[in-house]
Formats: sequence, structure tokens, C-alpha cells
Amino acid sequence: MTFSQPLVARHLFGPGPGNPYPEATAALGHPLLGHLDPAFLALMDETCDHLRQVWGTQNRRTLPLSATGSAGMEAGFVNTVEPGDVVVVGVNGLFGQRMCDVAARCGAEVIPVEFDWGTPVDPQRLADAHPNPKVIAAVHAETSTGVRSDIKALGELKDDALLLVDAVTAIGGIELKADDWGIDVGYAGTQKCLGVPPGLAPFTISERAWERRVQKPQSWYLDLGLLGGYLDSDGTGGGRTYHHTAPTAMVAALHAGLERILAEGLDAVIARHAKAGRLLQEGLQEMGLELFAQEGSRLPDLTTVKVPEGVDAGAVRGELLERFNIEIGAGAGKFAKSVWRIGLMGPNASEDSAELVLAALRAVLK
Ligand code: PLP
Repeated sequence: MTFSQPLVARHLFGPGPGNPYPEATAALGHPLLGHLDPAFLALMDETCDHLRQVWGTQNRRTLPLSATGSAGMEAGFVNTVEPGDVVVVGVNGLFGQRMCDVAARCGAEVIPVEFDWGTPVDPQRLADAHPNPKVIAAVHAETSTGVRSDIKALGELKDDALLLVDAVTAIGGIELKADDWGIDVGYAGTQKCLGVPPGLAPFTISERAWERRVQKPQSWYLDLGLLGGYLDSDGTGGGRTYHHTAPTAMVAALHAGLERILAEGLDAVIARHAKAGRLLQEGLQEMGLELFAQEGSRLPDLTTVKVPEGVDAGAVRGELLERFNIEIGAGAGKFAKSVWRIGLMGPNASEDSAELVLAALRAVLK
């Protein structure tokens, strides 16, 4: 046996997963329910209701997909895009790039609209990229760069296109109003600001997108038409039918995390993320460090910092882990060695956590 469990819980201050809420972790240990047990079906229904609140949507078809955020991305494209469809994608980081790859695998004619990493997408440039795309896609919170893009403005410009949004690092951490902003298809993950372990992809699709969906998507598992029966959210009243074995323990964890958030109040949770991020970003700048993301578009829940000249980025991360049990992330892509990513998400969105990571960084960098 070479694996040895750390004696003390890690502080997961990287780009995700973050530390879950204790309520979510505890729910993983509840007696397991069968996936067609009436008690589980009630739990799933409530989970979907709670998800509607954090998405800011009334969409009937709002559910946790049984896989991680990337499956949410796949589900988004595979259900809306057929060979030859035009898909405009805002690319200002790694996850915009991944969207292009996924859309291309669906046979789309992909029009990537590129922006410098560290800057937001410009909604007008996306709208101008093609006169009549089937889908316009963008990442609300680019985890690779710590940047927030203006999805509301994109929704105002989308015209007849379907707006597909990655909200993995946005949901439960920054303002997200799927219906008001005109998001037609949205996917997220549980392991960031929702404060739940990784494993599910909260997903929502509007009536408008549903009507235009691909009738026989190339993916059986992610075919939302088939998943409708599993959820009984298709309104037919036909009852639940087996589609796949829902990961019931994970749904229980998500339910518990969402209850925790809604009990605190979604606005209060978002304000807590904003405050923690501000404290961290001010503290880093007071230490003489430079932030990477463009001012005015910085995410509070995921901060990107430039590694100072002459400092070994990996060695600092290693020392933080070894001495302080603190995980922070490396930069993404070509910024792997020149940027650090620090996430204060879910229960970690607190003044304590901001001060802890600042103190540890001061100790390691001195
Ligand atoms: N999109 C964004 C913005 C992400 O940050 C991530 C993961 O970090 C993903 C998509 C993919 O999610 P997952 O790693 O859960 O598959």
C-alpha cells in the first residue's frame, strides 16, 4: 500500500473540487436508497426544485445529470447540434476551447471567437460572428483564467440562436439568472460553489431549446428525450421508467448541499463569495502580487495570480500542501508555470479561508 490518507483534511483552495459543506459529506453516509424507491424519487424532485432556484429558472427540465460537468457540456451540445449546424463559441480559456472540440465532434460548423486569456468574451463580437447560428455558446466563469463574462448581454444579443452556457464555476457563487438572461441550455458541476463532491452535472434546458432539440442524439446516455422518462419531468405523467441507475448517494449529497445554501439564502451565499474573493484579492495585491484576470471581470470565487519572477510555481504549491495542507491550483494551459489559481468556493468562501491562504503564502514566499 503506497497510499496514505492525510491525517488532517486538506484545505481545497484550488479550482475545484473545493471542500464540501459538512451536510453534503454527511449525506453520503446516509443509508443508501434504491433509485426507484419513492423516498428517493421525492428527494430527486426536491433536488430539482432546489436546482431551479440556484439556476434562476422555471424550466421543468432541470436535473442533475449523473456525471461530471464535462458530461453536462456534452449533453448540451449533443442534444442541440446536428452535423452542419453553425455553432459560435466564445473562447477566452480552456473551457471555451473544450466547447469547440465537443461541438465539432457533433459535426457542427464551429466558429470560435477568440479573446485573450484573462479577458472576458465580448458579446457583440459573438453576435456578429455569424448571421444565423443555431447555437451561441460561452463560459460564464472561466475557471482557467478567473474571468467572468457578461451572459446577460449575450442573451440580449442572441436573436434566434440558442444560448448555451457553462456555469460550472458560476452556480451558487456568482449571480446567475438563467430565465432573465435568456439561457436556453445550461450545465454546471457540484464540486465548486455548490459545496458538494464532484460527480453530478446540474443541467437545465428551456422549452424553446427542447422544441428544437436533436431527435436522436448520437449519445444514448445523454439523450435528454430518454432522460425525461427517468425524471418524469416530461409532463406526460407516465411515471418513472428505468433509464440508468441514478447515483443516489450523490443526489442525497447534492440535496443536502442545496438545502444548506438555500437555508443561508442564495443572495447571502453569493455575497459571502464576493466578500471572500475581495479580501483575498486585496491581500494578494498588498503582498505585492499581481492578479492575472482583467480588473472589472475578476471572479470572486476563483482568483488567478501571476507567479513572481524567479519563483518556482510548483515548489510553492508543493510547500503549501506539505506544510499547511493547503491545495492551490497551477495555471491552465500555457500559464501552467506562470499563474496560480486560488478558489474560495462553497464553505471556503469565508474571511477565515482568505486569511489562511494569505498567511500561508506569506510564509512560503518570504
Ligand atoms: N467547465 C468549467 C468552467 C470547469 O471549470 C470545469 C471543471 O473544472 C468543467 C467545465 C468540466 O467539469 P468536470 O471537470 O466536472 O468534468
